[in-house]
Amino acid sequence: MDAKEVRKLFPILNQEVNGKPLVYLDSAATSQKPLPVIEALDKYYREYNSNVHRGVHTLGTKATDAYEGAREKVRKFINAKSTEEVIFTRGTTTAINTVAASYGRANLREGDEIVITYMEHHSNIIPWQQVAKHTGATLKYIPLQEDGSISLEEVEKTVTSNTKIVSVAQVSNVLGAINPIKEIAKIAHKNGAIMVVDGAQSAPHMKIDVQDLDCDFFAFSGHKMCGPTGIGVLYGKKALLEKMEPVEFGGEMIDFVGLYESTWKELPWKFEGGTPIIAGAIGLGAAIDFLEQIGLNNIAAHEHKLAQYALEQMSAIEGLTIYGPKERAGLVTFNIDGVHPHDVATVLDAEGIAVRAGHHCAQPLMKWLNVSATARASLYLYNTEEDIDKLVAALKKTKEYFGHVF
Ligand code: PMP
Repeated sequence: MDAKEVRKLFPILNQEVNGKPLVYLDSAATSQKPLPVIEALDKYYREYNSNVHRGVHTLGTKATDAYEGAREKVRKFINAKSTEEVIFTRGTTTAINTVAASYGRANLREGDEIVITYMEHHSNIIPWQQVAKHTGATLKYIPLQEDGSISLEEVEKTVTSNTKIVSVAQVSNVLGAINPIKEIAKIAHKNGAIMVVDGAQSAPHMKIDVQDLDCDFFAFSGHKMCGPTGIGVLYGKKALLEKMEPVEFGGEMIDFVGLYESTWKELPWKFEGGTPIIAGAIGLGAAIDFLEQIGLNNIAAHEHKLAQYALEQMSAIEGLTIYGPKERAGLVTFNIDGVHPHDVATVLDAEGIAVRAGHHCAQPLMKWLNVSATARASLYLYNTEEDIDKLVAALKKTKEYFGHVF
């Protein structure tokens, strides 16, 4: 994989910000979009924009074929058994909320436990807090090791026969930790619990096989994997989805509507109330084609090399603290002694470098790290060693600048 060639397919990267060539290091927040995705959206709106699953007219049939074709691409991408198991959502947040509101509220009661970790994104915390509130179930946290990783011993200790749901991110958006989902799922199942995976930071960067992971639900977002915003996926095992009630009711998801009672369509449509995110799904399909053409294993190898290079270069900067384990996905979260991360991000922005600063929607993890906020540089297939060199040079400049100020 040649990142310099790949970059050429991302028109947005070819610009100057504050008079400097843009260095985009915020892909964990959202990725940039390549030409094939932009063109797929453009083609849909120019040539066959139409609603799906209703009209018999030609445009409607074309749009339906493209929308359902995208579902098949997603099925293959995550190796689900059937497209009945692939539900289009607005993103990871909506996907996890669907599991919580439908499965969680129907199946949990007082005395039951939901187990998550300290490194979860708010989207994988608050829906479970709400389930706990409504059902009387207890929310429990798997403690982290000193370097921020999860040990299976701690999982074994935390998950009990009272646990009904275990929900863990495959990759942490702050620590970059890659969690042993397959092994955690085994522990969950041994105790009679289901396994939910937040795949927001893993699906864009590594090959996902939901059957091999043996997870019960898997959630991810299109916008972090070269696709458009507003589209995501909830994978669920058919046997579970079949027993679950929809959480949104209205058009598209019904079979029959009477005055006082209605029945639902079969899977997956019973979970897709209202006009679906047609352009988004088509764009996501194009993003999957694009990523698969390059190869998820090639992308993972490229990012691994870059992340290790970034770690090496950044840990040589005195007064810079890096959070998370050494073996990690393509992101580096850090702080510079005595400089607020928002100031770090502001100085970097003046150099044309985009990084994220803040609590990264992970306030419990910030508490665990004993910081209020951090800066984060996150990588994707279009980043190069040159980007890291520019980041490191700008970080040194930031340190010097604030060294003079204080
Ligand atoms: N989980 C993790 C680990 C994330 O990084 C994010 C996005 N920052 C989400 C969930 C939520 O994704 P979305 O905003 O696309 O729903």
